[in-house]
Order: sequence, then structure tokens, then C-alpha cells
Amino acid sequence: IILLLLCGGTSLHAQQKSSKPDAIDQKVEALLAKMTLEEKVGQMNQYTSDRLATGPLTPNSSKWQEIKDGKVGSLLNVRGAKETREVQALALQSRLKIPLLFGLDVIHGYRVTFPIPLGEAASWDLKAIELSARVAGREAAASGIHWTFAPMVDIARDPRWGRVMEGAGEDTYLGSQIAHARVRGFQGKGLGNLDAVMACVKHFAAYGAALAGRDYNTVDMSERQLWEVYLPPFKAALDEGAATFMNSFNELDGIPATGNKHLQRDILKGKWNYQGFVVSDWGSVSEMVAHGFAKDRKDAARLAVTAGSDMDMEGHSYLPNLIQLVQEKKVDVALIDDAVRRILRKKFEMGLFDDPYRFSDEKREVKEINSEANRKASREVARKSIVLLKNDNQLLPLSDKYRKIAVIGPLGKSNADMQGFWSVKWDNDRLVSLYEGLQNRSGKQTELLYSKGCNINDTSRAGFAEAVKTAQQADVVIMAVGETLDMSGEAKSRANIHIPGVQEELIKAVQTTGKPVVVLVMGGRPLIFNWTAEHANAILFTWWLGSEAGNAMADVLYGDYNPAGHLPMTFPREEGQIPLFYNEKSTGRPAPDGKSTPYRSSYLDVSNNPRYAFGYGLSYTNFDFSDLKLSKASITANENLTVTFTLKNTGNYAGEEVVQLYLQDPVASVTRPIKELKDFQKVYLKPGESKTITFTIDKEKLSFYDQQMNWTAEPGEFRLMIGNSSDHILLKDKFELVD
Ligand code: BGC
Repeated sequence: IILLLLCGGTSLHAQQKSSKPDAIDQKVEALLAKMTLEEKVGQMNQYTSDRLATGPLTPNSSKWQEIKDGKVGSLLNVRGAKETREVQALALQSRLKIPLLFGLDVIHGYRVTFPIPLGEAASWDLKAIELSARVAGREAAASGIHWTFAPMVDIARDPRWGRVMEGAGEDTYLGSQIAHARVRGFQGKGLGNLDAVMACVKHFAAYGAALAGRDYNTVDMSERQLWEVYLPPFKAALDEGAATFMNSFNELDGIPATGNKHLQRDILKGKWNYQGFVVSDWGSVSEMVAHGFAKDRKDAARLAVTAGSDMDMEGHSYLPNLIQLVQEKKVDVALIDDAVRRILRKKFEMGLFDDPYRFSDEKREVKEINSEANRKASREVARKSIVLLKNDNQLLPLSDKYRKIAVIGPLGKSNADMQGFWSVKWDNDRLVSLYEGLQNRSGKQTELLYSKGCNINDTSRAGFAEAVKTAQQADVVIMAVGETLDMSGEAKSRANIHIPGVQEELIKAVQTTGKPVVVLVMGGRPLIFNWTAEHANAILFTWWLGSEAGNAMADVLYGDYNPAGHLPMTFPREEGQIPLFYNEKSTGRPAPDGKSTPYRSSYLDVSNNPRYAFGYGLSYTNFDFSDLKLSKASITANENLTVTFTLKNTGNYAGEEVVQLYLQDPVASVTRPIKELKDFQKVYLKPGESKTITFTIDKEKLSFYDQQMNWTAEPGEFRLMIGNSSDHILLKDKFELVD
């Protein structure tokens, strides 16, 4: 029964419709019956507004007339109550007055920016992540937006890939939990509510596995890896009721995702019974020509519709070609009807036929966006996203005896970079730099000094001398180094992921002063900084934290908040180790020392251990793990195993620990990873306080795809590991699964 309840838990949230026709179905059918083929194809066409190039749409734009003619079903990049209202009015001049859907990349905040998604993932705090998406959804919805192109749930194991910043990292389990949280946040109490936007789960599928981390690159992987590692977060988002899906630029096993029938029809709309619609990625329909998969755009349109892509985002392939393709009997009109039904259904669910302007409300917009409450939420999530990597001799939190603080480094006074890639830009963005955050916090008795030292991405050391001089005058140095906001993101792959330019040399130079040095590394991906890791006194990894970045960093530096972030991605020592992720497999070789099993193959010139492992993160306090107990030594597939242990805060600060449960199936009919995250909890404890932590292990957690690709749990021994990082296991035991 418990198992059934557990499985049912996710589908309780599901908004996927059952097979029985409902009132909306009837409305959809009635409308569809009135539509001409031209009007149907119009619904499948999505344009960008002209905003990106020339500003809001104007009557001079060719799109203006096409919207009035019912040739556009959706627009992206229109925003604001006023602008969406104006553009919606055009669609209402069309014969059938079908309202437009307005979509936008609301990735980590709309007006108030939150930390980049990878940073939020480091919080391991599902409530905080949901809150971030909730605030973003509420702000966007009040500004006329119906639909966000988020969450990106692509698993990413290659930090050279710039888009790692937009996802939840390398792990399937953590990624799936975060997918649930983000969809819940964006869609709130469900479509049709005035503060909910439709989520769009992307990019279906396997975009994160781009060969060599080069964006858009070829993906070739086994069906097993696809199902085991890459698909579960999509399924999680679907179970949470995600309204829409986006397909992807990459090919998978020789077939571009946009023209991939196996992915979209067999898996998504078939096996998973997904009832929403699939939008292409930007131009991905027409890109199938360059892939060498379609002869021309007409051929691309045929292939994409046949494969299950319902809407063409800026591909300019459906509108000019689908009518002819139907007339030539190359595309069955039933496929067009199916796509249009799915799109119309969402417009009905959003309440747009009742009132097409219901989201475009200028009064609500003023009230909802950029409020102090939203900024407070952003600061809350931002400080939870910070990861303490090193803290020698408890340099942090900063003691009151430090009266002169030197902020050094090219990101110390940067406001713009705090926003990170994939943010919605406004004329008057209010972004708090590190320097300003320290000013706000440190009070009159503290003197703040500043020196830039160098630029982020050039080789000039001209500013070093002044930086050293500034450091010499201070009691403590806080250095701010890393990436500019456009160094990680779409089309921002990098072969060299060391901290760019001469920034690490600047740290070395400053360190020669003998002053205590705290290094804050900011960026959108795991970076490499070996010298700093070994020599700096304290290191915080702060990603790009959004509107309240500086205040959140000051909260952590001063100990107003005890950092509790843990890395959602492995940080390598050298690029040559990539891809490097924690849940790899053992090789068949015995280890050179003859002892350590499982053996992970390594290089001659660099260890195979990462610099910082998946799950790693420190706190200002210490946590003790003890007293592991398993409810049974063996279970059957119908039984649950209860695992308990005691977690105690043995230090002087209140704080949170992320306790992580890993499992290994050491002998199976298909080889299994050396460990896999299967559960986690974030636990708050006061100094001296202890709590009994309980995990439940069921058959689902023991299952994998066997040789026939059946999801199954095989009898035998399982190893259980609990710790606060994938490489810091503090408690271990074994149990059996018996027939
Ligand atoms: C990205 C998508 C994004 C779309 C619309 C594409 O280039 O891959 O993730 O939603 O643009 O901006």
C-alpha cells in the first residue's frame, strides 16, 4: 500500500487528462470543426516578436498582418501587460479570434533575478527552488506572459558545455526532484490561475550529452543510458503536470530530435501518454536541412510534423509548406488536427478564450513585479545556493576584528554579471554587487577598500601592484573572480574552463602579502582553480546569484547565514578528465594497490579524483553522523526497508546539512555504477542538537533496466552509503533483496 501511495504521490499533481472526453475537449472539437486548413497551420506557427532586433512589433512588421490573418498561434519575446494587450488585440481581429500564447525564456526570474538554475540546484532545497520558480511565474503572469521555456532538465556531465548553467547538474535523481519543484513553482495551483505560467520542459532529449561539450553537437548513446540517465527528469516534469515540451537541436543516434519519431511519438506521446504539445527549439525544424536530414524546409516540415513536433518556433517551415504537403497527401491532415487540438487545449486551459487579456493587467503588473517581497525571496534563495569549498582555521565567518576589508578582483564591483546568462533584461535592473552588499552589511566602523587588479579575460597584469598595495592596507582580503555573465550559457562552450585570464595569478600576487584571503568564485559552470584550491584560506563558489547577489554574499561572509550549498556537478582538476561524474562504473581491472575496489580507471599524469566531488559542500559548523540502523537485514520486493541514523550538530553555529543516501548494486545482470544518489534530506540543527533521520528504501530505488530493458530489481546484496558528499561516506551497511 505504501508503495502504491508513493507511486501515486506524483500523479496526484498530474494534470494530464484522462482518456474520457471532457468539456474542454468538446470546445476544442467545436472550434476545430470551424477551422480552415490555413487557420490550423497558423496555430502551429510561432514567431519571435521583433523586440530582439528592433523593439516591440509595429504595423510595419510583416508579422503584424499575419497575426491579424490568423497565421500565428504564438509569439515569443513579447512582454509586459501593455505590449501583450496590443498584440493580442491583433489576433482578435482574425476570423476565429483565437488568442495568441505569449512565451518567454523566464529561466531564473522575470523582473527580479534569482540565481542561475545550476546555482539553485546547489541549494538542494526543493522548497527554495520551487519558490524561485513561483515568484518568476507570478511576476511573468502579471506581465502578460502565458508560458515560460523552462525548466531545462537536461542532465549535463560535461562542464565545457556552456548550458550547464541552465540545468540542475549531473545527477538524475537530484535533477528529477528539481524538475518536479520547478514545474510546481511555475504552474502554481495549475493552469488557468492568474498567477500560473505554463512550463515547457526542455530539451527533449539528450541535449546535455553534446559530444565534447560543444553546443548543439551530435549525441550518440545507448538506449539504456538514455532511459536511465537522461529521460527520468523529463518524466518527473511530466508527472508533475508540465503543460508543454520543447524538442532539441541535437541529433540522437543519427536522427535530429525535432524529426525524431521515436522520442516524440513513441516515448513522449505514446508510452508516456503525454497530452500537451511539443514546440520545436528555435529554428530546429529548418535546421534539419543543415543536419543533412531534410532536403529543404518543406521536407523538414513534413519530417517534423510526422515525428510529433506540434509547433514551429521561428523555423519558418510550417506556415509556408504544410498546406501544400497536406494537399499533396504527404502529410495526413489527422496529424495537423492532432497538433492543433493539443495547442488549442492549452489555450482553453489557460482561460484565454474566456478573456484573452486576463494576464495583461497593468495594475497587477505594477503590484506583482519587482516587489520587496520578491527581492527578499531572491536573497533567500541566493544565500542557499552558495557553496563553501574551503575554510582553513575558520577564517569565515568574518570576525568583527576585521575593520579594514579589501575587495579585490574584476567581479568585486560588477553589478551586471550578477544577473547571469538567460535573464530578462530591463532598462533599470537593480543588481547588488559584492562591494555594495558588503557596504550594506559592514557598517560605519568598517572601511572598505577596492582594487580591480585585472580584467576577466585578458593578459594584462598592470593592475597587480595596486591590488597588492590595497591588500597590504587591509586586515582581510575578499577576492571576486570568475566568469562574466556571457561566458556560460547557450553557444558558450569553452575548451578551457580554468578561471579565465590572469585572475588566478592575481590571487597568487595578493596572497604574497600574507593577509587572510577569502576567494569568491563566480560563474556559470564548474571552473578549475587548482592553485587557489590549495593555497587560498577560504573559498566560496557563488555562481551568478541574481538581483540580491551582493547582499546574499555578505550574509554568508558575515555568518548571518551559515552556508549549506553542495555541488550539483563534479569540479574536475583538469579539462582532460572530462567527462568526470561521480556515478561511473568500475572497470574490470584490479587496482594497482591490489586492494581498492571498485577500481576506477585513471591517467598517468592526473588522478581520477575530482577537485571537488558531486555533493560536496562545507558549513561553519560540524555534523556528526552515527548510529546507522536498518529495519531488516533482508527485504522482499514488496517490503520497504527503513534506514535511520543520528545527525548531530557538534559545532557552534546553527546550520543545515545535506544528508545523502547512495546505493550500489554490486552484482547484477547489467553492470551498475559504483554508487548512485537515491535520496537526500536537508536538515536544520541548532548547536548541540541531534535528530534521527529516516530514509525509506523501496523496490523502485533498487531497480534498473535489465538486459531486456525491463525496469527491475534483482535479488542479491545491496550496499548502502550515507554521507555529506559522494566522496565523503560516513556510514555504510548492506542488505539483501530476496525473492
Ligand atoms: C534555446 C531554447 C530557448 C529558445 C527561445 C533557443 O535557442 O535553445 O532553450 O527556449 O531559444 O529563446
